[in-house]
Amino acid sequence: MSLENKSASYIFHLLKKGGISARELLKDCRERFNERDHKLNAFVATSWKRAEKKAKKIDEKRKAGEELPPLSGIPIAIKDNMARRRDTMTCCSNFLADFYPGYSATVVEKLEKAGAVIIGRTNMDEMAMGSTTEKSAYFPTRNPHDLHRVPGGSSGGSAAAVGGGIVPLALGSETGGSIRQPASFCGVYGLRPTYGRVSRFGLVAYASSLDQIGPFAADLDDLWLIFCHLAGKDERDQTTFAGKDLKRMGENFDPPGLRVALPREYLEKVEDEEISKRLEHVCVSLEKAGVKIEEVSLIDPIRALAVYSVIATAEASSNLARFDGIRFGPEPEGVDNWEDFIKKSRAEGFGEEVKNRIALGALVLSSEYRKDYFDRALMVREEIRKELEELWQRFDLILSPATPTPAFELGSGMEISLQKYMSDILAIPASLAGMPAISLPAGLNEDGLPLGLQLMGPMWSEPLLIDFAEFIKQITGFGAEVKFRAEGGSGS
Ligand code: GLN
Repeated sequence: MSLENKSASYIFHLLKKGGISARELLKDCRERFNERDHKLNAFVATSWKRAEKKAKKIDEKRKAGEELPPLSGIPIAIKDNMARRRDTMTCCSNFLADFYPGYSATVVEKLEKAGAVIIGRTNMDEMAMGSTTEKSAYFPTRNPHDLHRVPGGSSGGSAAAVGGGIVPLALGSETGGSIRQPASFCGVYGLRPTYGRVSRFGLVAYASSLDQIGPFAADLDDLWLIFCHLAGKDERDQTTFAGKDLKRMGENFDPPGLRVALPREYLEKVEDEEISKRLEHVCVSLEKAGVKIEEVSLIDPIRALAVYSVIATAEASSNLARFDGIRFGPEPEGVDNWEDFIKKSRAEGFGEEVKNRIALGALVLSSEYRKDYFDRALMVREEIRKELEELWQRFDLILSPATPTPAFELGSGMEISLQKYMSDILAIPASLAGMPAISLPAGLNEDGLPLGLQLMGPMWSEPLLIDFAEFIKQITGFGAEVKFRAEGGSGS
């Protein structure tokens, strides 16, 4: 029995009833992995033996009549920047090529406790810096809907693993869009939680005032299920906060009367007519259902993108200083002093993109430029946050496209142009403001490529985002597009 396209909740239900064993589930997942991943390249490491052991334990527990936690037996993939004891963690960087963390990230511990079976680590742009997964030190990941196209990034491996039907759930991380953008390119749901909702203990830091861990799923109930397991205060991460109740409205959800803002400046960034049409279609359906939709004007997201590139690189230049080549990293030959050792190790260990960002970050923090760049960026960030806070006095949610275009071609002109950075533009404002946002599929275009929309909400509004996404799914029929098109797309 193939469980592709079945939700985690359904699979768990089946397992509990004895309709399938955890080991059979794992075998089913492995078959799809074997069939697809040599083309997709979504994974950089797998842990089948460990997964097998875990599945066996779950089966024994079930036979003994023990209570099973709700992710029991569910195969899950994690991005390669989250620590797991006795596993590798490379951040897809040569710098960490043989690094084994001695502990597990809080999210990994939580998933394991909930019964999840972690099958492997997914590809990403080196150190989470990029929008295509082409910046991985290993190889690019491909889009399951069209192997000639990128899956987005930096969590492209996780998005492709879910979109390509290998696993029903995966973890990603984002600083400025790295969950939502790849989710939208791969046709699945991706959630960026409120800043402080999910512990980052054990996540390799890129830009600490922005980083968040979040899930990918093909089903909204699954997204909610895993999110509830990830959320919560963690003594080991002082940015976490208990936050508001994790409660969905469920049957009491009452969309008529909800007020949705449609920011003009976001709509103007769209370069693909079909994306605009899908958004329009969703708006018409929502209005018919009694939802109030109003166009508003917000700070141009191009400013948010500029602010992001200053703040994220500044923080990265400081966070990445820990990679000094001493405890890990390439050991350079022919150097006889400490300074040259570090210089050479960093020069060899990091790829171009990472080095460029560290240099840019150091520049915007330098005495000469700090005032003009870093300080100003902080001011604009605060303006963006305030403007959104004010908007929540009048509106419940913001609806927009997720990205200006669908997935672009691998190694295309995008690779060298600013376009690549532009693909995150609509995701960045929520990141800067620390507010939650979800990207949701809105069908495929003529070439079979997924199109995506985004919902943003106030702090702690994840339950509303997921309820509203479910409502959109119900009234439009747009849901996740899990597919593996081995032959490549018709449009490429
Ligand atoms: N693509 C963006 C960047 O390269 C976002 C990365 C991220 O969210 N980790 O900075």
